[in-house]
Amino acid sequence: MLTLPWHKIETVFLDMDGTLLDLHFDNHFWLKHLPMRYAQKHELSVEAALDKLNPRFEAVHGTLDWYCVDYWERELEMDILELKHEVAHLIDVFPYVTGFLDSVRSHGKRVVLVTNAHEKSLNLKMERTQLGGHFDHIYTSHEFRAPKESQAFWHRLHEVEGFKAAHTLMIDDTLSVLRSARDYGIGHLLAVKRPDSKQPLRDTQEFPAIASFAEITPPIPENAHPSA
Ligand SMILES: [Mg+2]
Repeated sequence: MLTLPWHKIETVFLDMDGTLLDLHFDNHFWLKHLPMRYAQKHELSVEAALDKLNPRFEAVHGTLDWYCVDYWERELEMDILELKHEVAHLIDVFPYVTGFLDSVRSHGKRVVLVTNAHEKSLNLKMERTQLGGHFDHIYTSHEFRAPKESQAFWHRLHEVEGFKAAHTLMIDDTLSVLRSARDYGIGHLLAVKRPDSKQPLRDTQEFPAIASFAEITPPIPENAHPSA
């Protein structure tokens, strides 16, 4: 059980995929569904399709292109969004997420989604999960033209959000993103032990991590008003 110094935290930044939503959808999409559809399109075996796709994935890993639906639509000449719709039933919110978001807001903290996901993926996920109303604001790194892994992202986010880094909590399943947040000066950092519910627990290295949002949900104060 983790105890967070909530009295010092004013802003909470949350990642989407692998943090609030089960990464199983994304892993299934990129590692199984897309290769299968690519194989069908080019009349290849799935193994041969993966041999062609993997180097292309690796070439842009961690960059904005990696997260960009438009990039992959151009590169692969496939309707990526349509393919995502085919497996959209796998999009799932982790347990205790909405309770956590609402409780934190009822304590007067600003709750902000910061994702590397492309707007089209974000919209699909918000449509499926109805999570959108639980945030004070949502940003995609595409609007800042810099992924969360870069310092430019944090500087641009700060220009529009004006958060106090030392009084901010960031929860993200990607360790390189947490390191970037730490380098910028974000004061409180948490990783996620099991971003994909179908995979084993991960080593989150230097970062403390949660297995469930129930671990860090502050109790709702008795005089709380429902959040707007
Ligand atoms: Mg993530």
